[in-house]
Amino acid sequence: MFWDQRVETMERAALAALQLRQLQDTVRRCSEHVAFYRQKCAEAGVRPEQIRTLEDVHRLPFTTSADLRAQYPDGLVAVDRQYLARLHTSSGTTGKPKAIFFSRGDVDRAAELIARCLLMTGVRRGDVLQNMMTYGLFTGALVMHYGAEKVGLLVIPAGPGNSERQLLLMRDFSTTVFHATPSYALYFADFLERKGVDPRRDLALRKAYVGAEPHTEETRAKIEQALGIDAYNSYGLSEMNGPGVAFECEQKRGMHLWEDHFLMEIIDPVSGTPQPEGERGELVLTSLTREAMPLLRYRTRDITSIIPEPCACGRTHRRIERITGRSDDMLIVRGVNFYPQQIEQVLMKVPGVGRNYLVTLRGLDEMTVQVEFTEAGFDGQVDHLVRLQNQITEKLRAEILVKPKVELVPPGSLPVSEGKARRVIDQRVL
Ligand code: AMP
Ligand code: ZN
Repeated sequence: MFWDQRVETMERAALAALQLRQLQDTVRRCSEHVAFYRQKCAEAGVRPEQIRTLEDVHRLPFTTSADLRAQYPDGLVAVDRQYLARLHTSSGTTGKPKAIFFSRGDVDRAAELIARCLLMTGVRRGDVLQNMMTYGLFTGALVMHYGAEKVGLLVIPAGPGNSERQLLLMRDFSTTVFHATPSYALYFADFLERKGVDPRRDLALRKAYVGAEPHTEETRAKIEQALGIDAYNSYGLSEMNGPGVAFECEQKRGMHLWEDHFLMEIIDPVSGTPQPEGERGELVLTSLTREAMPLLRYRTRDITSIIPEPCACGRTHRRIERITGRSDDMLIVRGVNFYPQQIEQVLMKVPGVGRNYLVTLRGLDEMTVQVEFTEAGFDGQVDHLVRLQNQITEKLRAEILVKPKVELVPPGSLPVSEGKARRVIDQRVL
């Protein structure tokens, strides 16, 4: 089902023409109202009237998260203060947050994009959405909330954590869909198992939207299997409204990125040059309709690639692959580079491995991977655990070319964060 079939299935040529008009308008607004962009564009030697084709986007300067921090609190605002309707911040790991402003129109457009995403996954009026994301400065919960209301769903603003209460709400109000981080979804599945709740028998759950942090196909499969649902990957970032930037349709083969609102590029994260279509690299987004705080060529740091082939669902907006990590997430251990997702990919395929893990780096380059085993997979025999441990060590070594110390720990013993999961703790003394 479509929210806006005309736009979602627009011919590529018409979509490109629309993007060009919006790009020109965005660049003009940035140069007129944002001193930062006026100066950056001058330095790059580009004037708004020189943007004549979509290719000309490459002439524009990049915007980085360091720029957002330097312009904190409101250096990037492009409208008069009276038109600001909402403030969110982006979950930064260090230092100042990034302030993200929305106009009234931005709030509406963000909700509209969520409405497209939700209908794309087959929910409809009458569905009950339990929103298990953090309400507050984080965009994840509120933007989803507004979009789900727009579709006409009954929305339960549950927030994260407190699994007992989540279960109570789910039972009493017959929740059919939930929205959570993948790590919380797995934790919750574990919780149900410990409680002896069989979601297929005892709950009305059919679907879940999982996002806000990287996760692998194996993790999705685990969530789906444990809960008996369809899980859809949801991608977004506060700088571009939050959730609703790209989302899976029922085909579940990559996420449609709404190209009438965002212009995407994939670049080589080191050189900054565009990658050929289909090649993996860093996703760069230019907002095409944001009023309060438009951003030109924002470097997301997220690694993905564009799927150029048309999708069987009929939508013409191109898809991006599941995010495989962030260019600044890459770990270098004993001279070898890899992404934490590679570890997850290996772990989630091993039978007997539970739902949570934690990588700790200490000393010079000591790497420990703590892995929860499953209650079901452990029969009390220590040598079975030792075998599992050795098996995991070997598989990890084959994948990341570094031999970590693997520690098996009981289910539920590793910390679960309410917001985004912290999978790697780096305490090295380098
Ligand atoms: P925030 O600005 O706090 O909303 O965080 C946005 C970041 O979360 C993105 O730039 C990604 O790194 C990450 N993220 C969000 N959704 C996903 C997803 N579905 N898969 C992988 N990473 C994601
Ligand atoms: Zn599709």
